This record gives sequence, structure tokens and C-alpha cells, in this order.
Amino acid sequence: MNAELIAVGSELLLGQIANTNAQFISEQLAALGINVYFHTVVGDNPERLKMAVNQAESRADLIIFTGGLGPTKDDLTKETIAEMVGKPLVYDQDALDSIMAYFKKTGREMTENNRKQALVIEGSHILKNRHGMAPGMVTKAKGRIYILLPGPPSEMRPMYTDFVNPYLSKHYSEHIVSKVLRFFGIGESALETKIIDLIEQQTNPTIAPLAKESEVTLRLTAKHRSKEEAERMISETEALINKRVGQYLYGYGETQLHEVAFNLLKKHNQTISAAESLTGGLFSQMITDFPGASSVLNGSVVCYTNRVKETQVNVPGSLLETDGAVSEACAEVMAKNIRNLCGSDLGISFTGVAGPGQSEGNEAGTVYIGLADQNQVKSFKYQFSGTRAAVRTKTAKTGFDLIRR
Ligand code: ATP
Ligand code: MG
Repeated sequence: MNAELIAVGSELLLGQIANTNAQFISEQLAALGINVYFHTVVGDNPERLKMAVNQAESRADLIIFTGGLGPTKDDLTKETIAEMVGKPLVYDQDALDSIMAYFKKTGREMTENNRKQALVIEGSHILKNRHGMAPGMVTKAKGRIYILLPGPPSEMRPMYTDFVNPYLSKHYSEHIVSKVLRFFGIGESALETKIIDLIEQQTNPTIAPLAKESEVTLRLTAKHRSKEEAERMISETEALINKRVGQYLYGYGETQLHEVAFNLLKKHNQTISAAESLTGGLFSQMITDFPGASSVLNGSVVCYTNRVKETQVNVPGSLLETDGAVSEACAEVMAKNIRNLCGSDLGISFTGVAGPGQSEGNEAGTVYIGLADQNQVKSFKYQFSGTRAAVRTKTAKTGFDLIRR
């Protein structure tokens, strides 16, 4: 089901009033999961109104009109729609009675114009107007639904809330189910390239990529009358995505990468320590985000200078001279030694060039991460891009990604 709103009124086109009716109705429809693709505004002119209706009929199943139901000559919405759906206008006795009662009560003279307000499209479902005289109406014709509502918000809103919303909710509301998949270790464009056919073909669920802080997320959103079916559609699309890029998926929703790594270490009763040069303590700080961090992090050393690498982490001076601090060999010794020094199950190390500019012949963004457990020591080399802050953040996050794997 998709809807189009047509606001009728020259005063809207003249800028004398804002189309707040469209805003109100759109918000209500969105809450029911009904798509609104177009808002149209047209003046009090039957030919132009017909053009607007023709266009709406070509692209919407539900057309909601506001305005032009009143007594004056320029109020011609129902006359125009009646003609277009090929049905006559007939008097609604209830509406006529309440209009006559109103004039009797106020002692004012009732004109023929006022009788016109009780005219409705034959066969419509009539919506009572508790705050004015012109009733609203729901007409089904040509496989579509036309809903006509009065222009004044004080009449339209209660009518919408009392009758239209419950009616649409009962017959046409859709469940909207969303799921966010979180990826690390793959760039936005690389990920998009791998699933571009899915992104382009899928309209339900939709797949929306978003890149933020060196991570990529995909938001899958499905709509269906049945919630279970919407959930099933999400799972099906998720499985397709996982087949292509599942190795980079680390979590869902608001879950953070370091949270996943932390929980994994905690679950396996494993402790860790870090020798942090380039990251300056960022990795350890991130672990301590979580309560109970002491059961996972024994302690770490920020060994920014070669002197501290030598004196506090026992990196041999000869190694620093031959290989340099930004090297595979240095990362491995740092990881192995910090593990032993702190008596942890795992040791991790970070050394590299945060930039801007190169250092000791290494490009900015050159990073080595060492990882040691009781059996072995490994190191990984990266070439990151971005600002100093981005390189450091990516480095720490990559450390958590290595632990998670
Ligand atoms: P009436 O019986 O009052 O004539 P109507 O259904 O014929 O009601 P219009 O004559 O088109 O409606 O508009 C009456 C008033 O309602 C406008 O002067 C304006 O104040 C308000 N109105 C109409 N359309 C909108 C809109 N789209 N958004 C906000 N206010 C509107
Ligand atoms: Mg009017």
C-alpha cells in the first residue's frame, strides 16, 4: 500500500498557510508503515485538481485529500472526485440533520450553500465531523481508496484520529522490522561492491549502508502485514549477505567491536595485557569501558619511546637498532614480553606511525600488531589511511578484531 496526499487550496499555493495537514497525516501513515511517496498541493481549480488526481491515480493506492469540502463556490473537491470515479453526489441525511439543527439552534438563516455541505459521494463510508459541518468520506473505486477530509486542522485532525487511523490500522498497517549488521575490516565501497546487486534489487527488505568510525553498518528494513513474515524476510536477506561478507560481520544493533572482544575473553576466562606504543593506551582504555574489566585486563604498558620499550618491556636494544621500533620483530617481542611480564593469557602490541608524516622511513599509517598466546607469537602489518586520530582508532579496533577472530 502506498499513499499520496493531495492538499487542495489556493491559499496554500499563495503561501498564506503552510501545509500542516500533510505533515500530520504523513507522520500518522509512517507510524502504520504505509509508504507516502508524494505530497501534492493544488489550488481551488477543477481542471488542475483533475490533473493532480490523474497523476496520483497512476502511482498510489490510497489518495487522501484535505480541503475543499466547505459550502462556498470554490470548494469543489467532492464534486471533482465524484465525477472522476463516476458516482453521483447524494445528500447524507445525518449530515443534513446536524446542519439544520445547528442553524435552528443559532437562529441563523440556512442557505442552499449550507445544504451543499451534506452532499457526499454515493456509496461512501461517511466520517462524522464533530467540530464542523462538512463530513469526511471514504470511497472505494477503480481499485483505490479515496479519503476526503475537511481543510481546517481543527476538524481534520480529530476526524483522522477517530476514524481514518483506526480504519487504516485495521486493514492496511504494516509491521516495520529493522536489523543493523555491523562489519569491521572492510571498507564501505568494498562491501558495497560485493553486495551491490542485492542493494539494487531489493526493495523489501531495503539494505542501507552507512560508514562511521572505520566501521560499516548495513540496515535491513522489511515491511509486511505479518511481523513474523517481515522477520523471516530479514533473515533471508541476512543469509544472502553473510554468504558474501560474513567474515567481516561482528555484531548487531548497537553492539561495539571492543564489547564483542571483551565478552569473548571474559567468557573464556582469558586475561590480556597490551604493550602500546602508537595507541598510547587507547586499547587498554577501551577495555576498561566495561565493568568487571579487571577480570580481563591484567595491566598494560604504554611504551612510547625506545627507551621505555627497552627498559619496561625488555625489547633488546640491538633489535631496535637493526629492525627499528616499527617492525614485525619489535611487535612480536613486545607482545610476547608483555604477556610474560603481566602473567596474562594473551599479549598484544601496537607499534607504528600515526602521522602526519613519515617516521624512520615508514609511511604514516604503517602499523604492526603483535599477538602472543602460550603457544605462538604472530604479527600483522597494516597500511591505514586517514588522520592521526583515525589511524590510532583503526589500530586499536583492529586489535579487538584480531582477538574476536
Ligand atoms: P471549510 O468548510 O472551512 O471551507 P474546507 O474543507 O472547504 O473547509 P478549505 O476551504 O480548503 O477547507 O480550507 C479551510 C481552511 O482550513 C483554510 O483557510 C486553512 O485555514 C485550513 N487549511 C486548509 N487546508 C490546509 C492544509 N493543507 N494545512 C493546514 N491548514 C489547512
Ligand atoms: Mg472551504
